[in-house]
Amino acid sequence: MRVAVLGSGPGAMYTIKYFLKHHITSPPLIHIFEKLHKPFGLVRYGVAPDHSEVKEVANEFASLVRDHSTNMRLYADNELIGKGSIDRLRRVYDAVLIATGAQGAKRMPFSNLPSNTMSARDFVLWYNGHPDFVSLTLPEKARHISVVGHGNVALDVARILSKSPSELEPLVTSGLLAQPAYEWLLSRQRLSGVKIVNVIGRRGYMEAAFTNKEFRELTTLDDASCVIDEHELEGSLSDLQQRCTGSRGKSRGLSIIAKCLNPEAERKSNIIRLRFNSRPTGYIGSPASGLEIEHRDKSNEIVSCDLGIESIGFKVQDEWGLPIDPLTGGIQHDGKGRVMGFPHVYVAGWAKRGPKGVIAANIPCCAETADAIFYDLSSQSDFKTTEVPNWGNPYSF
Ligand code: NAP
Repeated sequence: MRVAVLGSGPGAMYTIKYFLKHHITSPPLIHIFEKLHKPFGLVRYGVAPDHSEVKEVANEFASLVRDHSTNMRLYADNELIGKGSIDRLRRVYDAVLIATGAQGAKRMPFSNLPSNTMSARDFVLWYNGHPDFVSLTLPEKARHISVVGHGNVALDVARILSKSPSELEPLVTSGLLAQPAYEWLLSRQRLSGVKIVNVIGRRGYMEAAFTNKEFRELTTLDDASCVIDEHELEGSLSDLQQRCTGSRGKSRGLSIIAKCLNPEAERKSNIIRLRFNSRPTGYIGSPASGLEIEHRDKSNEIVSCDLGIESIGFKVQDEWGLPIDPLTGGIQHDGKGRVMGFPHVYVAGWAKRGPKGVIAANIPCCAETADAIFYDLSSQSDFKTTEVPNWGNPYSF
């Protein structure tokens, strides 16, 4: 029994883990294909450098490959893209799992997307040292930065941007923060005057997608204050308290809101302004010098902007001609991970569910796909015998 896996991020590794938990009489041959030089995708290049506890799951994934080294191989620097590649793999492998995550980023639907604006995806890949983004160009002086979006990625970006030199240093020393990013962040911290990051959400607190852990982290930085303007909220704290009935998470977040309404008086070098009910309507200038936002009362404001980072979600990019579900943004499947119309082709992780959910959300998703692969293969009696191509040297852990 042979399984080919495209991608080596959490969607791939958790599916393999749960597949191997099934009682399979003869150990299946599992080949993992990773397009980059180093494995584990989102864990390595997506998780923020200061969330090292989340990155630790990479050790579990490495052990999984090591513990099954007789029948499992990971081939890095191996990009199997293009419509024909699934058919080619299917000739040799009994099942093909697609777990390539979400490779694209959404951008604001503005006619003007100036050169000093980018997706948060690019910015995150850059600070995490992704090889395709090492030479990303950023403005030399970016005192005012606009981050559009109120998801966890936006808050990760705002936090990294607002870290003091002494908070950044251990991240680069431990190899978690890329050197060029460290140098740029450090030189930004050394700019005179207060550095401002506006984190701009088009809706209110009740709709904000970020979670309390990431929200709280904005309020515990060494040299940054997180500030919220009460007028931009959808009511006073007590109004919000009433609206939060039934949502423990939102209710607990109110204590963090309270802290941001009355930030420490002490002067800090960085201000993170969490802006609610502020709909971005377009950049001003090219390169941008401002971002126009529209408030709830339809009044407009131009927020100074030396760098615009749009953190409004990712896109699953299908490179194989597979159907995309317009509702989830993931590859269309039968509800269990079997790709519609492509027998013995399976999907897991963000490629299956669309780009939503933390790493742990992969656990039930991948267990479900693993069950589907196991169910289909265990009801089969003949397996591929065609010679497996020489994929080169496997990655060594
Ligand atoms: P997200 O949670 O879906 O947030 C996207 C944000 O973009 C929302 O605030 C959304 O606002 C906004 N947005 C979308 N289109 C917009 C537009 N045209 N104009 C203005 N705003 C727009 O996405 P994400 O932050 O990229 O995160 C993806 C997933 O990864 C999430 O499940 C997240 O929790 C997870 N993640 C977790 C962590 C962590 O645990 N630390 C870190 C990173 C990512 P609306 O709500 O108004 O649409």
